[in-house]
Amino acid sequence: MDITTAAKAPLWWGAVDARVTREPLSGDIDCDVAIIGAGFTGLWCAYYLMQLDPSLSVAVIEKDHVGFGASGRNGGWCHAEYPLGYGSLASDHGHDAAMAYMRALFASVDDVGGVADAEGIDCDFDKGGVLTVARSALQKGYAIEEVSEAHDVGLTEADIRLLDASEASAMLGATGVVGGVWHAHGAAIHPAKLVHGLAEVIESSGVKIFERTQAKGISRGKVKTAVGSVRAPMVVVALEGYHSQLPGEARRIVPLYSLMIATEPLPGDAWDKIGLDRRQTFSDFRNLIIYGQRTADGRLAFGGRGAPYHWGSSIEPGFDIDDGVHTELVRSLLELFPFLADYDVTHRWGGPLGVARDWRPSVTVDHEKRVAWAGGYVGDGVNTAHLAGQTLAELITRTDTERTTLPWVNHPWPKWEPEPLRWAGINAGLALAGSADRTEARTGRHSRKADLGLWLRGRI
Ligand SMILES: Cc1cc2nc3c(=O)[nH]c(=O)nc-3n(C[C@H](O)[C@H](O)[C@H](O)COP(=O)(O)OP(=O)(O)OC[C@H]3O[C@@H](n4cnc5c(N)ncnc54)[C@H](O)[C@@H]3O)c2cc1C
Repeated sequence: MDITTAAKAPLWWGAVDARVTREPLSGDIDCDVAIIGAGFTGLWCAYYLMQLDPSLSVAVIEKDHVGFGASGRNGGWCHAEYPLGYGSLASDHGHDAAMAYMRALFASVDDVGGVADAEGIDCDFDKGGVLTVARSALQKGYAIEEVSEAHDVGLTEADIRLLDASEASAMLGATGVVGGVWHAHGAAIHPAKLVHGLAEVIESSGVKIFERTQAKGISRGKVKTAVGSVRAPMVVVALEGYHSQLPGEARRIVPLYSLMIATEPLPGDAWDKIGLDRRQTFSDFRNLIIYGQRTADGRLAFGGRGAPYHWGSSIEPGFDIDDGVHTELVRSLLELFPFLADYDVTHRWGGPLGVARDWRPSVTVDHEKRVAWAGGYVGDGVNTAHLAGQTLAELITRTDTERTTLPWVNHPWPKWEPEPLRWAGINAGLALAGSADRTEARTGRHSRKADLGLWLRGRI
């Protein structure tokens, strides 16, 4: 497995027209809702606005092209997860609100598949669930904790259950599997096919998408760009990690990079060893998260955290490629499946996702100030952005539903620290998480460095 010959581009972009194909804005326009960002949050918001009121005029402006951001680059896990875990959701908001939120996330996974089906978007949606394997006695303890916390909150065996060693290894033929956790509410998808398909669907319902059009600033009911303004009674900021790049917003959310690799299509005998017969997405219980999916065309797409946070919340194309992190991803993949050494890595890439200071995602609509935003999904944004987009549309049109009172609605984000504290804290936290993994693998005992790391960086 040699990363030097791999294409430096997202695997997914090969299956879609991933380039600028739409006209930029060319002067001032007026509309009912202006959306900044053509990723999942913005496009799902536009989709549901048109469902709720087909007479609305909606414009989306996008700096590059549809799906250029995290929505076109991610691991394709469309799953229901709250970044801080079920227990913390319940302790923040009480049992009923926590359950309502989790049930809304569960329903959202089915809705993504349902809308894709109904609208004829072929995005390789396969609801095989999510598997987190335990690869040591320590990790098995984490698995037991996770399931018991979830059951205490009120989730059932049908939602999440513990697996013994034989069940877990039958699903994933990785080395050292001693058990695992099975989450039912998760699907594997092809993210670029979904985001591009969604763009076409909303355009056919009358939404206008302007590509190569960068928002330079927002004032009450107005988005400024280099070539004109979009005036609207409501402006939706759907930028997730990129939100930090707007003037004055650097401390609202930080962009953190997640990086990925993909193998060539693997033959049947390799898949006989790996498993994932139902295209379950998979991970394990290490501190520095890894994630994988069996793609519809038989590749392994595999990613992980560990890329550094860049000073001043900066985002640059060069950050998508990191030889050290990509090499480490190959090493992790081979540790799980040593026989993959004979196969090629064909693609490597990365991109920024968004993390709020308190690690809590938010959907916020301020009718007074005429602005709305959503994000802070901490790497769980594929499904959560669908729920966010739908909820934004309902809040904007003042349509009361079971979603518009969920606990994340109008959740205010505390500010991140100014530099250099932000840089030092997040990167120290990341380093401690990696170090804790090495210590835990060596000693088989929980490392306090993991807790310190979580505290320092939020919880990345
Ligand atoms: C490598 C990677 C793997 C991931 N894996 C998973 C996963 O498997 N499962 C999961 O749930 N989540 C995953 N995530 C997170 C998930 O992809 C994101 O949370 C989600 O896609 C965010 O969607 P969004 O629409 O809010 O933002 P984005 O998809 O980032 O869209 C924002 C858009 O705004 C555009 N833009 C930026 N600035 C401006 C501007 N000034 N004006 C106009 N347009 C602008 C960008 O070009 C971009 O297209 C992953 C993220 C990454 C990077």
